Amino acid sequence: MQVPLLRLQCGKIGQQSAAAKYAAASASADFSIEADRPYAELWMGTHPSLPSKDLETQRTLLDLVQDNQALIGSEITQRYGSKLPFLFKVLSIKKALSIQAHPNKKLAEELHAKDPRNYPDDNHKPEMTIAITPFEGLCGFRPLGEILHFLNTVKPLRTLVGNQAANDFEQIVKGSEDSQDPAVVEKNKDALRAIFTSLMQSPQESIEAAAKELVAEAENSPSTFAVSPDSETNPANASDLAELVVRLNGQFPNDIGLFVLFFLNYVKLAPGEAMFLKADDIHAYISGDIIECMASSDNVVRAGFTPKFKDVATLTQMLTYSYAPIDEQKMEPAEYPYATLNMAAWTSGSSVVLYDPPIEEFSVLKTDLNQPGAKATFEAIPGPSIVICTRGRGKITVGPKTEEVREGYVFFVGAGAECIIENTGSGEGEEEEEVFTTFKAFCELESHELPNGH
Ligand SMILES: [Zn+2]
Repeated sequence: MQVPLLRLQCGKIGQQSAAAKYAAASASADFSIEADRPYAELWMGTHPSLPSKDLETQRTLLDLVQDNQALIGSEITQRYGSKLPFLFKVLSIKKALSIQAHPNKKLAEELHAKDPRNYPDDNHKPEMTIAITPFEGLCGFRPLGEILHFLNTVKPLRTLVGNQAANDFEQIVKGSEDSQDPAVVEKNKDALRAIFTSLMQSPQESIEAAAKELVAEAENSPSTFAVSPDSETNPANASDLAELVVRLNGQFPNDIGLFVLFFLNYVKLAPGEAMFLKADDIHAYISGDIIECMASSDNVVRAGFTPKFKDVATLTQMLTYSYAPIDEQKMEPAEYPYATLNMAAWTSGSSVVLYDPPIEEFSVLKTDLNQPGAKATFEAIPGPSIVICTRGRGKITVGPKTEEVREGYVFFVGAGAECIIENTGSGEGEEEEEVFTTFKAFCELESHELPNGH
């Protein structure tokens, strides 16, 4: 039987950036370069829009796993069919990506049936983001106190929303911003839906007039954006927020997104930090290089910062309207007990950490092997994995097969196979700089028994 370790060639979109650099090591010859795109994506998986190929045979991974279901494992095949349940990506963002949300399963089916051109999948798309370089984005609605604060202090925002709508909103939520009472929370969400929907429906000429005023204020009197004295409004100081307004307006002049900014949490992730987005959570990525993992789907409902198809009506209807501080959306990585480190790995402080979102399609492991000779052995799991190297040099071994690994190399590891990853170093430079970093996305339906019977 064939050893279940394949080096993959992956499709990519766009140029320049970490994703493009990795793609140069992994991309197929026939990918289409769209150099004018402000971002780049490397896709790793079996999604039909950009399926990965086995480098050696040039067969698509989709074709290979359909031919040999043991590569995916019987449990996964039964649940998801003969394809990967997840799509793994590297995404490099130079310019803000559209304000968007991804539909839940039921809505995805409806949208796909109605409009298959704009909604190519009938699947939901929860997604997880792990920063490789410093990342910034917008994610979820701000706590209501912050939104009220901006409605009262940022005049062009209040003008655009309308005095009446702003007053109505304030009347309902003032005093109950932080209430946990489910009935009150529902009432507040309805108020948020009403004011956000009316904002999103603003006519373009009103947006333009308000945007000009907003940008002038940001340039001339950034203190207009002073943060609320009683909450940690992000970004934490007025000049950062003013800078963001000016920068985003440079990318998307007079866009409704400039005002959406005051409704959404502004989040920064340091390398290694992660966040998880449920279906129907609103978000927009602003800058940085990230690893993304998502249920295998390409459905996006967009409504700002985009030249693409916008669907404001669907977006404003579908959103969860959950409002919370950003910390609640960030994920803490956990220790992963099913990888064994050798002595060189232990003594160099190497680590394997698990990002485990509350869905079953995927989890991701980040492995840092801090010096040459450091090695991690991953127990066999009953599902498939994809491994990408983002830094350093090493090798990967499955059974009798060993392959060299460099930055940007991507591998598929079949179900049921033990996998060993080792730092081999470059033979140049200081040893302490020779960290070897890989990310491994995987799916297993029955999670391992936790040790000690927990
Ligand atoms: Zn997204």
